Amino acid sequence: MGTIWQVYGDNAHAMTMRLLEAAQAHELVPAGGSVALKPNLVLSAVAEDGAVTHPGVLSGCIEYFFEHGVRDVSVIESSWVGDNTMRAMRRAGYEQVCSRYDVPFFDLKRDKTRAVQTAIGPIDVCERALNAGLLVDLPVLKGHCQTRMTCALKNLKGCIPDREKRRFHTLGLTRPIAALGAALRPGLVIVDSICGDLCFEEGGTPVPTNRMYLCTDAVQADAYGRALMGLDSDDVPYIELAEHFGGGEAAWDESDLVMLNEPTAAARYVRPKGTVARLTRGVHEDQACSACFASLVRALYETGRDGRDICIGQGWQGKEIDGLGIGRCCSGAVECVPGCPPTAEAIAAHLL
Ligand code: SF4
Repeated sequence: MGTIWQVYGDNAHAMTMRLLEAAQAHELVPAGGSVALKPNLVLSAVAEDGAVTHPGVLSGCIEYFFEHGVRDVSVIESSWVGDNTMRAMRRAGYEQVCSRYDVPFFDLKRDKTRAVQTAIGPIDVCERALNAGLLVDLPVLKGHCQTRMTCALKNLKGCIPDREKRRFHTLGLTRPIAALGAALRPGLVIVDSICGDLCFEEGGTPVPTNRMYLCTDAVQADAYGRALMGLDSDDVPYIELAEHFGGGEAAWDESDLVMLNEPTAAARYVRPKGTVARLTRGVHEDQACSACFASLVRALYETGRDGRDICIGQGWQGKEIDGLGIGRCCSGAVECVPGCPPTAEAIAAHLL
């Protein structure tokens, strides 16, 4: 099982640099090799919508690798079928990042492809992804209406041409996502869990979480992300299937986690709106960290329970709570979900 480095905060650029420094990620770049950064730019949106990778993640990666002597850095991506990648990159603020550092952005819809033999047969994959010295997968951890969640493995779908994306849907997504992940095996994964959407890959219901994490295994990144979202292996079968196909290892436990700071380093949860406000109606929130509140939001969403009489937040420290408390701050509760913050999976287990 590999190490997972995790950081909380409000500054995507600084958080990314901190993760990369902690992991000494430049050592993963082969001598004289290139780095290809693969964000999630599924459609034209800004990071605050909960759909696309924050531009600060790109700038943090570029600055880190430049500082460590890697000169050949590029950004590669193709948006989903029906959207224009270049329009999406401008909307997300990537154009300013690429021009500030003089780093090329390559629209993979225009790239050459090569058939790669996988566990389910040949898949056409874009050459810039295949030829990268170090492929850096930069997904957003968020919900998805068909696969329940999307993170590192599904983000690689942006490395295939549109005709293959369409074919993936006819094959039911699970097997092709797993096979592609095993075939590409990105060497580095940095997950943007700053503000992923609750249930849709295109965003619209963002859940501010103010967290990022890094590891070197896309399968492990997804398995950890799945627990953070309160889902289990039956909900997202492509993760274990990718492991079976040789894409990495799904196992992780608390001893794999290296926390670079505390959740209190990030902003407190902002007053929720829309669906999130509806889900959390009745919750007694007092100075909750965003990561804690986001875990509760996802657990309520997954279990369908309402938030009545649930306490959460630093304001509950040292107080007696006659009901369910979320996180270490609520240890005075009759029933407490331990952790700082607890995962949505852990909270959901208490709600069921
Ligand atoms: S347990 Fe308390 S300090 Fe820890 S994340 Fe939750 S609210 Fe923040």
